[in-house]
Amino acid sequence: MKYQSLRGMKDILPEEAPLWQKIEAACSKKFQQFNYQEIRTPIMEMTELFARAVGQSTDIVSKEMYSFTDKGNRNVVLRPEGTAPIVRACLEHNLISKDKITKLYYFGPMFRYERPQAGRYRQFHQVGIEAFGSADPALDAETILLAVSIFKDLGLTDLEVDLNSVGCKECRPRFDSRLRAYLKGFIVQMCEDCHIRYKKNPLRILDCKKPTCQNITNEILQKIGDSDYLCADCKDHFEKLKSILDSLSVNYKINKRLVRGLDYYTKTTYEVISSSLGAQNAVCGGGRYDNLVEDFGGSSVPAVGFAIGMERLVEIMKLKDQNAKLKANVQLYIAPLGEEAKSKAVEYLQKAREAGISADMDYQDKKLKAQLKIANAIGAKYVLILGDDELKKNIVVLRDMQANSQEEITFEEVLARIR
Ligand code: ATP
Ligand code: MG
Repeated sequence: MKYQSLRGMKDILPEEAPLWQKIEAACSKKFQQFNYQEIRTPIMEMTELFARAVGQSTDIVSKEMYSFTDKGNRNVVLRPEGTAPIVRACLEHNLISKDKITKLYYFGPMFRYERPQAGRYRQFHQVGIEAFGSADPALDAETILLAVSIFKDLGLTDLEVDLNSVGCKECRPRFDSRLRAYLKGFIVQMCEDCHIRYKKNPLRILDCKKPTCQNITNEILQKIGDSDYLCADCKDHFEKLKSILDSLSVNYKINKRLVRGLDYYTKTTYEVISSSLGAQNAVCGGGRYDNLVEDFGGSSVPAVGFAIGMERLVEIMKLKDQNAKLKANVQLYIAPLGEEAKSKAVEYLQKAREAGISADMDYQDKKLKAQLKIANAIGAKYVLILGDDELKKNIVVLRDMQANSQEEITFEEVLARIR
C-alpha cells in the first residue's frame, strides 16, 4: 500500500459511522432539552491562546501541541481542546456577560501529540458544553446531570461520576504550600515529572499514575478530609453541589486525586469513568473555570463545562452491543435485467426517492442472483425485479426479502405498499 493515515489518526469507516450519528443525535436532543446552543469555531487558533488558558506547565501545552508557524510567520496550533477557543469566540463576538447565562455546545476534532494507544489518538473528537454567567453550584450540577443523561439515553449504565474541588485563587496556593511542605522529605523518591510538578504545580502530583508516587501521596490524602483544604466559599460551593446531586439521585464518588490536566479549573472538577474501558477509562471530563474569561481580558464571568471523548464513547457502545455496527437502511433495491429494463429502473428509482423511499439499484449489469445477494447485504426490505417480460406487461416483480415471497404488481402499487 502506498499511503497510510498518520500515526494516531484514524478513519471513521461507514460501518462505524451510524454509531457516531446515533451519539451525535442523542447529544443534540439533550442539548436542546437543556437549552444549549451550538457554536463552531475554527480548528486552528493562535498558539498563545492555549499556552495562556490551559497552562504552560501542563502536558497538553508543554508536550502535546501541534503547533507550527504558518506562511505569514504566525504561531498557530491545531486546537487541543474546545474551551479556550469558545471563550475567545465569546469575547470576540460579545456573547457573554455577568448579567446573563450563555449556554453553548460543540462537536469536533481535537489534536494532541500523545503516544497513541487504546483510547488515545492524536486526532480525536470531543462533544462538549460550556455554561457562562453563574457561580451557582446548581449550574455545576446541571452540567453533570446533562452528561449523565446523555449516557443514560444511550443505554449506558456501568459509569461512575468522580467528583472533587480544586479550590480557588484564595485557597489553592495555601494547599500548594501545604503539599510542598509535606512532600519535601519524599520528593527524592518520586518520578521526574513529579519533580517538575513540585516546582511548578504541586497539586498535579496527586494525579501521578506511578505507584511509588501514589504510595507517598496516599498518606497525605488520608490526612486531609474531604474538603478541609478549601476556603469557606469553596467548601460551601462543594457541599451545596453534593447535596444538589444527592437530591437528584446522581451517584458520585469523591476522588481527591481528580485535579485534571488543565490549569484553568477552579472549584468543581469531575470525570465520568467507564468500568468497561481499560487504562484510558475517562469518557468525560469537566469542571468550573471562574477566572478564564477575566484572564482573557473579559469581565469576571464564572463558567462551567465538560467534554466527552467520542472515540471512547463509541468504544463503550461497541462493547455493550456487538451488533452495534448498523446496516444501511435501504427500503427498496431495484434489480434490472437487460438494457431496456435499466433505463426504466433509473426512472423508477427516481420516482421512489421522490416519494420519500430510500432506494438504490444495480449499476454493474449483474445477474439476478448476484443482485439479490447485494440487496440482502445492504439490508433491503424489498427488491423490485424488472425484466423484458415485466416491461412488456407494464408490471414489476416485488420480492419481500423477509417473507421470502414475491408477486407481480404495478409500480404504483409498489410505492403505496412501501409507504
Ligand atoms: P486523559 O486523562 O484520559 O488523558 P484528559 O484529562 O487529558 O484525559 P480532557 O482534556 O479533559 O482529557 O478531555 C476530555 C475527554 O476527551 C477525556 O475524558 C477523553 O474521553 C477524551 N480524550 C482526551 N484525550 C484524548 C486522546 N488523546 N484520544 C482520545 N480521547 C481523548
Ligand atoms: Mg490527557
